[in-house]
Amino acid sequence: MKSMDKIVSLCKRRGFLFQSSEIYGGVQGFWDYGPLGVELKRNLKDAWWHDMIAGHNELIQPATAPTTFEMVGLDCTIIMHPQVWKNSGHFDLFCDQMIDCRESKKRYRFDQVRGRWCEAKDQKVFVTTLAEQEQEADEVRRRAMKFFKFRPKDADKLTVSDESITLDQLDNTTDVLGPDAKKLDSLTEPREFNLMFKTTLGALGGEDDVTFLRPETAQGIFVNFKNVVDSSRVKIPFGIGQVGKSFRNEITPRNFTFRSREFEQMEIEFFCHPDTSQDWYRYWRDRRLAWYKNLGLSDDSLIMREHHAEELAHYSVGTADIEYAFPFLPEGEYGELEGIAHRGDFDLRSHMEGKLDPSTNPMTVELNEKGKPKYRGSGKDLSYRDELTNEKFTPHVIEPSAGADRGVLAFLCEAYTEDEAPDENGNMQTRTVMKLHPRLAPIKAAIFPLVKKDGMPEVAKEIYGTLKDKFNVFYDEKGAVGRRYRRQDEAGTPYCITVDTDTLKDQTVTIRDRDTLEQTRVKIDDLLGDLESRIGS
Ligand code: ATP
Repeated sequence: MKSMDKIVSLCKRRGFLFQSSEIYGGVQGFWDYGPLGVELKRNLKDAWWHDMIAGHNELIQPATAPTTFEMVGLDCTIIMHPQVWKNSGHFDLFCDQMIDCRESKKRYRFDQVRGRWCEAKDQKVFVTTLAEQEQEADEVRRRAMKFFKFRPKDADKLTVSDESITLDQLDNTTDVLGPDAKKLDSLTEPREFNLMFKTTLGALGGEDDVTFLRPETAQGIFVNFKNVVDSSRVKIPFGIGQVGKSFRNEITPRNFTFRSREFEQMEIEFFCHPDTSQDWYRYWRDRRLAWYKNLGLSDDSLIMREHHAEELAHYSVGTADIEYAFPFLPEGEYGELEGIAHRGDFDLRSHMEGKLDPSTNPMTVELNEKGKPKYRGSGKDLSYRDELTNEKFTPHVIEPSAGADRGVLAFLCEAYTEDEAPDENGNMQTRTVMKLHPRLAPIKAAIFPLVKKDGMPEVAKEIYGTLKDKFNVFYDEKGAVGRRYRRQDEAGTPYCITVDTDTLKDQTVTIRDRDTLEQTRVKIDDLLGDLESRIGS
């Protein structure tokens, strides 16, 4: 049975993940990767980089892609010009709202996706209810809808209690009813809370020097769009990928690394012609889902959730989330691993022109007194001219945005398995094994001399030396071989190579497969090639 407690405990015991600054009591929302974890995370990021960027063959049209296309990479800074965050919308809109219940001490945050106040602890949806005076019903309803950001389609969920309340009271009193009903005055006022970490540049640190740690890597790509086009001769359609740290001052970091305050993202901004953007959106959505499956996430645990029209960001034509059935969620619920969004030309246009007219774009900030956008754009031309047709246009963008830490967590959860395997005496015992895909496994193979004598360690060490040049392999000569196998099973090592008495006679070793427990004999000379083909690229 998979339980989060067991997975968390294995992660700590075997050195996948530790709480940051643990000896001082830890800091909420920050995690360190241990010796096994750092390899796993690096392998995941390398697989992404290889499969999406460096290993992409721009000369061949992938079966499901509308045309051939190019992919390049970038590595941008965490701190950027403060204007970036104004024009991206993060400065004004990247907020969470929270309310606290004074009685129950529970905290509720506004869940943008569900459009509801949710209990911060377990994301359960509570129907929001307000009392009213009969004659003011419509006004109460209207204000309540606004206050709780209810969408029109949810109007019927706004039930009305029979307690009477005036409109004045309404402005100060709200309630979250449901199984956890509380008195109307027991909730604090909603507080807006920008999720960006603020910092200051330079020694003096005045208001003008305030800037932010990036909450996503994407903006670095948008502001470098022109640099990449001018310097690398890429032609639309093409994508730019980036892997790097992002920071969000989450109100309620929780569920192990799922919601952290410092995390890594693997993002692609794919630039295409507006006419073909829907085709590219579908291509990336399907390709990204297939990628997780190829690396071992099971069909049963993954879903692709298309956002409803009313859930979409104002600029978005379509967004789909790839979600995974994390064991900390109730049965039937899924947590986001990656979002694939059709962002139209919103980002490039904002960085060119500044914020758009709020009358055509209600989510954007107000115009200043001169009727100009509140935030000035860069004024740089970020449009694109097609050399063949001479058409000039602002490219549309498809954004597959994945979290490396959430990916690692999903692969850890998927890999955790308890099965039965024979011990040294042939008795069946429960074993804990991390069935990680060989490409992701922190250690690719462990090399054991069966016993610490008769020249076996020497041969095993030589094999270790040869393989170490190619893969992360591990040498272990301590204790019973059965116990050594168990340790490697828990580390997720897919192959164990044992040097025994036959090795000394015929130069062969056994390779034991972690999942099938099958043992095959392979010539030492063929070992490297054999492992390479088993592990794959
Ligand atoms: P959520 O709704 O769960 O907060 P989000 O929709 O805000 O996520 P995006 O802004 O789309 O997330 O970010 C893209 C990806 O970055 C997410 O799919 C997720 O994998 C990762 N991510 C976002 N926030 C966090 C976080 N606090 N901790 C770890 N990973 C995160």
